[in-house]
Amino acid sequence: MRTDAFALRHIGPNENDLQTMLKTIGVASIEQLIYETIPDDIRLKNELNLEPALSEFEYLSHIQNLGTKNKIFKSYIGLGYHPTVIPAVIQRNIFENPGWYTAYTPYQAEIAQGRLEAILNFQTTIIELTGMEIANASLLDEGTAAAEAMALLFDVRTREQKKNNVLKFFVSDELLPQTLSVLQTRSTPKGIELVVGNHETFNFSDDYFGAILQYPGKFGQLYDYSSFIANAHEKEIKVAVAADILSLVKLTPPGEFGADVVVGTTQRFGIPMGYGGPHAAFFATKEEYKRSMPGRIIGVTIDANGNRALRMALGTREQHIKREKATSNICTAQVLLAVMAGMYAVYHGPNGLKYIANKVHASAVTLADALNKLGIYNTNTSFFDTIAVKADASKVKPVAEKHEVNFFYIDNETLSISVNETTSLSDLNQIISIFAEAIGKECFTLSEASSSNSIPASLERKSAFLTHEVFNSHHSESQLMRYIKKLERKDLSLNHSMISLGSCTMKLNAAAEMLPLSMANWNSIHPFAPIEQAEGYQIMLKKLEHQLNVVTGFAGTTLQPNSGAQGEYAGLMAIRAYHLSRGDHHRNVCLIPSSAHGTNPASAAMAGMQIIVTKTMENGNIDVEDLRVRAIEHKDNLSCLMVTYPSTHGVFESAICEITQIIHDNGGLVYMDGANMNAQVGLTNPATIGADVCHLNLHKTFAIPHGGGGPGVGPICVNEKLVPFLPTNPIIPTGGVEAITAISAAPYGSALVCLISYGYITMLGAEGLKKATQYAILNANYMKARLESHYPVLYSGEMGRAAHEMILDCRAFKEKGIEVGDIAKRLMDYGFHAPTVSFPVAGTLMIEPTESEDKAELDRFCDALISIRKEIEAATKEDLNNVLHNAPHTLAMVTADSWKFPYSREQAAFPLDYIAENKFWPSVRRVDDAYGDRNLVCSCAPIEAYI
Ligand SMILES: *Cc1c(COP(=O)(O)O)cnc(C)c1O
Repeated sequence: MRTDAFALRHIGPNENDLQTMLKTIGVASIEQLIYETIPDDIRLKNELNLEPALSEFEYLSHIQNLGTKNKIFKSYIGLGYHPTVIPAVIQRNIFENPGWYTAYTPYQAEIAQGRLEAILNFQTTIIELTGMEIANASLLDEGTAAAEAMALLFDVRTREQKKNNVLKFFVSDELLPQTLSVLQTRSTPKGIELVVGNHETFNFSDDYFGAILQYPGKFGQLYDYSSFIANAHEKEIKVAVAADILSLVKLTPPGEFGADVVVGTTQRFGIPMGYGGPHAAFFATKEEYKRSMPGRIIGVTIDANGNRALRMALGTREQHIKREKATSNICTAQVLLAVMAGMYAVYHGPNGLKYIANKVHASAVTLADALNKLGIYNTNTSFFDTIAVKADASKVKPVAEKHEVNFFYIDNETLSISVNETTSLSDLNQIISIFAEAIGKECFTLSEASSSNSIPASLERKSAFLTHEVFNSHHSESQLMRYIKKLERKDLSLNHSMISLGSCTMKLNAAAEMLPLSMANWNSIHPFAPIEQAEGYQIMLKKLEHQLNVVTGFAGTTLQPNSGAQGEYAGLMAIRAYHLSRGDHHRNVCLIPSSAHGTNPASAAMAGMQIIVTKTMENGNIDVEDLRVRAIEHKDNLSCLMVTYPSTHGVFESAICEITQIIHDNGGLVYMDGANMNAQVGLTNPATIGADVCHLNLHKTFAIPHGGGGPGVGPICVNEKLVPFLPTNPIIPTGGVEAITAISAAPYGSALVCLISYGYITMLGAEGLKKATQYAILNANYMKARLESHYPVLYSGEMGRAAHEMILDCRAFKEKGIEVGDIAKRLMDYGFHAPTVSFPVAGTLMIEPTESEDKAELDRFCDALISIRKEIEAATKEDLNNVLHNAPHTLAMVTADSWKFPYSREQAAFPLDYIAENKFWPSVRRVDDAYGDRNLVCSCAPIEAYI
């Protein structure tokens, strides 16, 4: 075998490890292990039909070459996406730094204080720029954030005001087209009626619950919305505003003219356009809606010593936990991008942001004046950064494209031009010369930008923002570099030790997969650029879709959904469209086994389905007889089954083919949740088990880093029946011949990070992918073999094997006063992040090691768990002052002059030898969740202000 094969870098255990591990497990070969793990009838007989694997070096030159097929034109397209300057210090220290991008969602707050602070900065930025009371830690994109706003307002109206017959939602015709398309998708199954119109002439009748406006309008016009909102409020109608974040530096924030929700994207705060994403959307609202707010909120609390500490607040309101009562399914969001946008605000501070916004506005005003001189008139009476001008598109477009410039062509006589942070005087002169040439007039050259203003006094921002010291301190590169490092050091990421989160597949995110994200030819394209300028992307995305078709055995893929939960929703909407196309309007019952992840019922609820929960047996498997009874009972209205395979318990259930057959026999389709695809790739696939559609979490199985809670990509792969219904986009058509409207704002979702999965598959090839799966199963079964005499392992396959993950039962330790959470916190003292806590079974730990961890790392983790098991043995219910209850132990505790605990400092912080070499110190003691929820603070204000 070639020694430069990527598989050797990606997969942890080497040949020697393999033999020892097989012996420990008690099998002769890895083939035997797989035979004992995956049922015979679903094992693939042939290798995946993929191109030969490339080495890392070969891949990087391939992707660089392919990148040259993307033409980087100057982009003035706007519509929510703008060129921006990524501060190099942020690019190098966050975007390209595994200390930041490999972190997990900050559930274990004590080892996540760094990114929690960074997200708190993001929330503060949003709260202050929008003028609202609270903001969340990001959503997926502006389009879905607007849909979440609609859902929140609908929920508030129906739940709190008990007005069930009020179904109309007004949408301003100034709303971005992609946002409108997402609203269409999301409103239909809920029975919400969208009414699109002109907000200046519109009058509300009593059957409206809400409205949404765009600020500034999609082609730049500024409106004063205060009387519209006042009128709505008189009728108890709530109003959401989709706002441009940079414009809010200069404009009256929507919170000051009465908005109930403000949404938008922070892309132009230093996040590359990336052909559509990923970018962090924001969602800000009033305190009174905090319990209905989608997404995660970071809040301030105290630790066991009463010191300030941060953690995710109001965990119980996380939407997907509400299952079928959820109004949103958001789980993975865009944390890494939110961290970057927040840092952009920290780096520039209020004065820097004002400088940028003023410069952008001045460029727009200068351009409008210059074009007027040419006899080209703008239709906006006032604007921030975008002007719509009257000109013959058939004359302007060819000249513009010749000069590698993109405008947005609204119709034959109108086009819009959005300027941005990167726009220079010479760019303005280039635009002027393009118009002069197009209309045959003499060109002139500006020597300076004008300083006149087009913002009416009534809309000018008067309130201060970002006054907190964090936004007024780190303005030199040394300062920001050290601030970023200070935060990074508080967080445990994959560059410290394995993160064995069951169901989350925290595998290696290889540097060679990540490097292309920084290449200008890949990260600087506007999602609505003409597709012939994005040939490199079109080729890469098609190849990735094909690779995923091969892996799943399906016929078609859409990359549009930007999280697993969005994929679920997309898949269910495709199923819905399929039934509707056959006249089966009544088919809307969705069967979901009780062990399913919370996003499954939440997605089904959003798709307007009636959810029937089916039983799980004692051994964790689906109760096939109960499923059969339910399927037959609902056969006239059966839409689908949602099933996770291998199950959320980490088992390849042998009845899977029988299960999918029962559903098909009763007229339904099968949706497979692909979160556990890492146990299938190359060995079996969703098509073989009888599924019709599945989503894949590219941020789990296919190596996109978790980013501390996003980005994600959740493509759906479908069989022939569902291909026609894959989603489209209103500007760049995608999807099938009977495509459903948009799932996400961008045509190809978060296209930039699709490169990572493309690199992963291209470098592993068929053999490497299969080997990765085999080793994921090997690693899990090795850990099982080492741990099962210390902890009861719940559930295994018929031959006693786990799949790629396993569940340790910790419920019996309650007798000793030890909860599963104590074990999770104690693991921090051993330098490890806890596995998944209490999912899918309360009181358990679910461990998924992945193929990327070598035997030595697995052994350290097993040693830690075995050592903790001994500590549990020594604990008693009567005296909780023990090493588990007090965990984690901070450096401050261990080095304090007084030590009042009944065990040694060494036992507290260095319980095993390996720790001394690579100690990780949690930066706070155990955080107090209840305190923080009682005293909700989710911005940077000092805690003293609230006590
Ligand atoms: C991760 C996961 C999801 C949701 O994926 P997101 O990308 O977080 O939306 C759904 N189902 C299961 C079983 C999962 O593990």
